[in-house]
Amino acid sequence: MLNYDNQNGWPNQLGNYQSPIDLNTEVSTKYDDNLAISSDMYYQLTQEINDSTTIRLLGHGNATIFNRKFTFQQLHFHLPSEHTIDGKTNPLEIHLVHTNAIGQTVVVAIMVNKGNSNADLQAIINHFNNKEDQSVNISTNQWIPSLAKGFHYLGSLTTPPLTEGVEWLVITNSQITVSDNQLAWFHKNFTHNNRKTQPLFERKIEWYK
Ligand SMILES: [Zn+2]
Repeated sequence: MLNYDNQNGWPNQLGNYQSPIDLNTEVSTKYDDNLAISSDMYYQLTQEINDSTTIRLLGHGNATIFNRKFTFQQLHFHLPSEHTIDGKTNPLEIHLVHTNAIGQTVVVAIMVNKGNSNADLQAIINHFNNKEDQSVNISTNQWIPSLAKGFHYLGSLTTPPLTEGVEWLVITNSQITVSDNQLAWFHKNFTHNNRKTQPLFERKIEWYK
């Protein structure tokens, strides 16, 4: 099991393109536009896995991201958020991992705010089984807004092997919110699993506001 209290001991060969980062709006290049992502109406989640540090859900769906076709692979949760925005942490961050035919990886991160109980999150909570994988049939309705706002930058996986060359879209205007009760459930079943923010170095952050 990955030890989030000993992150300096994680095996890696750190480069200058590590994730997560603080998304500092002051140094970001600003665009009065939307993030270039359009997904199918929803992704279909088919299997729910307890991987001891988080819940992972496998499924299928497609998205066009910056004019390239990607296939949805899996999503999982981090609490609290791994990315921060101007130093501010969100209670929950969801990572939707996508790949394409030429081996590129795009992670679409959804920054979740506290608010009403979300029905899709509740379905995931209700299906959770500590002991064994579960077959599920959950649609992620409207997780990715049709006019997505947020950040775009180049980074890495946030768990070992921390591979670089991963493209990140961090969405800040998703309709998903998490209630106090749902958040309490996540905290009861999982300890914190957020990697610390990493130095930006020479990288550019694009902010689609
Ligand atoms: Zn992740």
